[in-house]
Amino acid sequence: MAAQIISGNEVAKSIRAELKDEVSRMKAGGITPGLVVIIVGEDAASQVYVRKKGEACQELGINSETIRLPADTKEAELLALIDKYNADEKFDGILVQLPLPKHISEEKVLLRIDPGKDVDGFHPVNVGKMVIGAADCYLPCTPHGVQELLMRSGNDPKGKHVVVLGRSNIVGKPITNILLQKAPGADATVTICHSRTKDLKEFTLRADIIVAAMGVPNFLKGDMVKDGVVIMDVGVNRISDPTAKGGCRLVGDVDFESVKEKAKAITPVPGGVGPMTITMLMKNTVKAAKIHHDWKG
Ligand code: NAP
Repeated sequence: MAAQIISGNEVAKSIRAELKDEVSRMKAGGITPGLVVIIVGEDAASQVYVRKKGEACQELGINSETIRLPADTKEAELLALIDKYNADEKFDGILVQLPLPKHISEEKVLLRIDPGKDVDGFHPVNVGKMVIGAADCYLPCTPHGVQELLMRSGNDPKGKHVVVLGRSNIVGKPITNILLQKAPGADATVTICHSRTKDLKEFTLRADIIVAAMGVPNFLKGDMVKDGVVIMDVGVNRISDPTAKGGCRLVGDVDFESVKEKAKAITPVPGGVGPMTITMLMKNTVKAAKIHHDWKG
């Protein structure tokens, strides 16, 4: 049977519609969720992400502010700005766009954000809460998006064997922790593989669900998966292709053509996991506003 192609665009659209509704109800109750995004320097990709975050806020009715700082901004100035927004009740979420210029410590910056406003979910307090399964934590956006995609596409991970490829702090480790929780949308048995894993194919062949987050173009091939596997491809890799516009195109960590022949369901790249990330940032911002205002609506 043909594989179900899971559209992140469609799922993100329906989550955004729900959030828009929720925000308008909150506004009617006198609460406007707010997000401030701080970007330091001119990194082109970061500029695009920041613009998209602002547009998403606008679409949903979230109050947003974007602070653009020059690349030579001193670390102390950035920390002082974070202190200011930590204390500003108009903003429920604070996001500092990464990467930061080399002279600024990312660790110091992330630690300075009030964990209650850390809608990126990278503060160690939120990481700890994620591990213990605390309800008031902000899950990191990309892995949270993977969980939503699984659930909303009818591929509940409960009781399944999930193999995660990659152990980064932003994708591999958090998705592992999210899916092994004793909770709805989780309850999986999770195996995590990385560059030192021996005989990786032995693990992927036994997986019911594979989350690929390695940054290696087209790594996972059809002969490495079993029939009926569900694939979440987090990888975003630019490869050269003279036939494509601009001479290159995006591919995932999964060799889509060979794997889709065996898969029950699979996310494409682009248009799969990617569109979920900013949507989950919006979800976290709305959640933060609910917590801050004790909104039960
Ligand atoms: P990362 O920090 O570079 O981590 C990559 C992980 O993959 C590491 O744990 C590494 O193992 C492992 N790995 C690399 N090559 C491997 C191999 N040949 N066999 C087994 N494991 C291997 O990457 P990341 O930040 O997690 O990102 C992963 C991918 O997801 C990238 O393509 C990135 O662009 C994409 N991404 C997409 C989104 C989105 O769609 N919104 C968000 C974030 C990331 P070691 O730990 O042993 O080095």
